[in-house]
Amino acid sequence: MAGSGETFAVRRIYCVGRNYAAHAVEMGHADRAPPFFFTKFADTLVPSGTTLAYPPETADYHYEGELVIAIGADTFQVTPEQAPDHVFGYACGLDMTRRDIQLGFRDRSEPWDLGKNFSQGAVLGAIHPASEIGHPVAGSLVLKVNGVVRQDADLADLMWPCADIVAYLSRFDRLAAGDLIYTGTPAGVGPVVPGDIITLTIDRLTPVSATVGQPHQAVQASLPHQE
Ligand code: MN
Repeated sequence: MAGSGETFAVRRIYCVGRNYAAHAVEMGHADRAPPFFFTKFADTLVPSGTTLAYPPETADYHYEGELVIAIGADTFQVTPEQAPDHVFGYACGLDMTRRDIQLGFRDRSEPWDLGKNFSQGAVLGAIHPASEIGHPVAGSLVLKVNGVVRQDADLADLMWPCADIVAYLSRFDRLAAGDLIYTGTPAGVGPVVPGDIITLTIDRLTPVSATVGQPHQAVQASLPHQE
């Protein structure tokens, strides 16, 4: 958490699918639709500055720069007007994606968990309390790879703003302190390779960065030998 040195105990990670019109188009969708969600295990989360092992079974490992909502209180069936009172704060995040795996499952109408929910698949920067920075409804979002701008958007272009996302999701389940919601990425997603440095800046927030590393080596079983 920015400025306090305290840590935010992450409970669950939700992510919004396409939430910027231009990214929806680049992914092959034309119209605004209700938001949809997918999830990542809490232990896929790593802090800013992590070197991300290039993940297995992909040849198309993508960054997605996103504003992240940190829920701070019990949240169930709230309205968009009530939603901000349930938000602790906001952060910069990277929703790392094995695009080829995601699209392969998507094209077969099968769940694409393995394209999204994998070790080190969620990178998070410092969380800034809403009590200090307010509730962002506009502001620039810029993602660079090796210093070159790849995503350049404004939070005002979110089809479903933060308050709407929290309210909508809270219709379906009870949210609680520690839940994170990655709010979706704008146009300009693309691949990274080992050695690349990804940096995301969003107005008023501490930037998040990550370096793409080499793949992990295969690990031999380490359970005690059974006779
Ligand atoms: Mn995303």
